[in-house]
Amino acid sequence: MTVFIPKNAYLTIVAACVRFANKRIIKDDWLEVSGIFIGRNEGDDVHITKAYPIMHQKLDKDAVIDQYKWSDEDYEALSIIDDEAFSNNEFTIGWWHSHPGFKIMMSHIDIKTTLSYQTNNPLAISLVFNPERLAKQIELPEKKGDPEKQLEGDPGFKIFRLDDVNKGIQASYHTVDFVVNGFDTNEQLAMLTQKFIIDITNMFPKDNMLKNYETLTNNRINELNSLIQGTDEYMNTLMRKGESSRAYEVLENQTRDIKKFVAETQKKIEAIRRFMEYLEYKERAIIIPSVETILAEWDEIVGRLDKTLKEIAKKY
Ligand SMILES: [Zn+2]
Repeated sequence: MTVFIPKNAYLTIVAACVRFANKRIIKDDWLEVSGIFIGRNEGDDVHITKAYPIMHQKLDKDAVIDQYKWSDEDYEALSIIDDEAFSNNEFTIGWWHSHPGFKIMMSHIDIKTTLSYQTNNPLAISLVFNPERLAKQIELPEKKGDPEKQLEGDPGFKIFRLDDVNKGIQASYHTVDFVVNGFDTNEQLAMLTQKFIIDITNMFPKDNMLKNYETLTNNRINELNSLIQGTDEYMNTLMRKGESSRAYEVLENQTRDIKKFVAETQKKIEAIRRFMEYLEYKERAIIIPSVETILAEWDEIVGRLDKTLKEIAKKY
């Protein structure tokens, strides 16, 4: 009776949820995110293969918790993903959503949603994630005023199943055992994922994503160009001063600095490409090709880098 979660599915949930609830956003504006799981049942076990983010709540200060409303487009996304899964002998085995900054449990609305999955599939699961629980490793008290419980190696979520679907929305629920694959220990999982939260907070914005990546890429391209130009000018000055004996050493040093800058930027570019997996399904068709166009400019200049450096070297 165990749910197996691959690392990437877990990180997808973390990223998609943290994007709308992190330190850069005031807590009052944190939004819930929801999505689905694709996978298969094996005996009593559930094997998740992928988590898909579907939607986030609209900002509404008066809303009570769990006022997430799926649009037609969101249901359409679900049916496309489910069809695709079917051709791999898999299906939608459950759903997940976030309780950003508040207790992990199932609200009435959550029970209703879970019911829609579990009625057809008794093993269907409902995962509830609170990014703050993961970041701070604390469990919020049942009642206001009670102490917070300190946690260790906690992934920030629980998985639930309804006790008896025949009770409908009156059904009570219980937690289900799970394993997150891809980490050595729970402590390692918590530590690495807390670092991941920082990357997501800094580099996976909820709004203006394209503008953001465009600015980053353009800044990096400009900086690289000025490093290259600076090298050329430096070499030129050396020659003019008759210090050609230093040329080799200077060029080596400059090249090393440029390569270091490129490697550092490359890490960010690769991170952005990975982040594309954490987009909501309906965003993908627009954002991914645009991001690829933006990043292609960087790829191109880096692709030419060795040649450019050789040309400079040849001059001196
Ligand atoms: Zn909920």
